Order: sequence, then C-alpha cells, then structure tokens
Amino acid sequence: MRCPKCGSTRTRVTDSRETTNAIRRRRKCEDCGYRFTTYERIEQVMPLVVKRDGTREEWDRNKLLTGIRLACNKRPVSYSTMQQIVDEIEEQFSGRQEVDSSEIGQAVMKKLRVLDEVAYIRFASVYLRFHDVNGFIEAVEQVRRPQKPPEEQIPMNI
Ligand SMILES: [Zn+2]
Repeated sequence: MRCPKCGSTRTRVTDSRETTNAIRRRRKCEDCGYRFTTYERIEQVMPLVVKRDGTREEWDRNKLLTGIRLACNKRPVSYSTMQQIVDEIEEQFSGRQEVDSSEIGQAVMKKLRVLDEVAYIRFASVYLRFHDVNGFIEAVEQVRRPQKPPEEQIPMNI
C-alpha cells in the first residue's frame, strides 16, 4: 500500500481489526511517519438505483456516505459510525436487482433518527425538499413527538 502523503511504498500495518463486514487496518509510512486507515470489504452485489424520474443509476457507496457526512457535519457522530450506517444499508439492499432511491432515503432517515436528531432533520430536509413538503413537516414532528407515550398517571386510592 502506497503512502497517500509521500508516495513511499514502505508502509506497514500497525493494527488490524475485524468489523461486521470489513477489516480495518491502521497503517504507518516508514518514511514520513504518516498514519492512515484502509478498509478491506467484500464487494457486495448492489442493486441499480431507480430515481424518481424513472432513470437508473449505479449504486454509489460514496454518494451515500457523502450525504450522511453532510447531514452529520459538526455533530457528535464518528466517521466509523457513518461508515457503519452505509454498511448496514448495503447489507439491507444487497442481492436485489433494483431499489427505489426513496427507499434508500427512508432507510437512512430511520438510522439517523435514532442517532442524532439534527443530522436526521438535515438529511430529511435535503432528501424530501423537492417532492414532499408534508413529509418533511412530518419528519420534524416525529422528532418532537416522544418515542413512547408518557406513562399514565395512576390515581391513588386513599
Ligand atoms: Zn509517507
């Protein structure tokens, strides 16, 4: 593996860790000391994405990750958590031939909602802006609404 900073080929692995569906390796350049991380993962057979206008495009992991990164900008969400969301989404849809882009958006929203409310609303606003204003309002209201209804007060019999 070539060092991304100086181009040297004298790099070594300092740590290797297995995650759900990837192997994460910490590497260090012997020449300039630069440390970087690489991921080795199974190449999943991903479906074509059917866009709203009916056209199809290739599944794009980076595009998905970028959308999540923008939503999580300056939020307390680690990069490895974002990677994990994408891993889980890929796992969810892999093996299918086609998937609607709206289904992917909904799946991301579902994950962000439990992770970080601000990231969730940001993602929802970008994702729902063009075709569903009511859906956006509903998304915001879902965050405001408590997940579970508060427990009923049991009147005391004195
Ligand atoms: Zn280097």
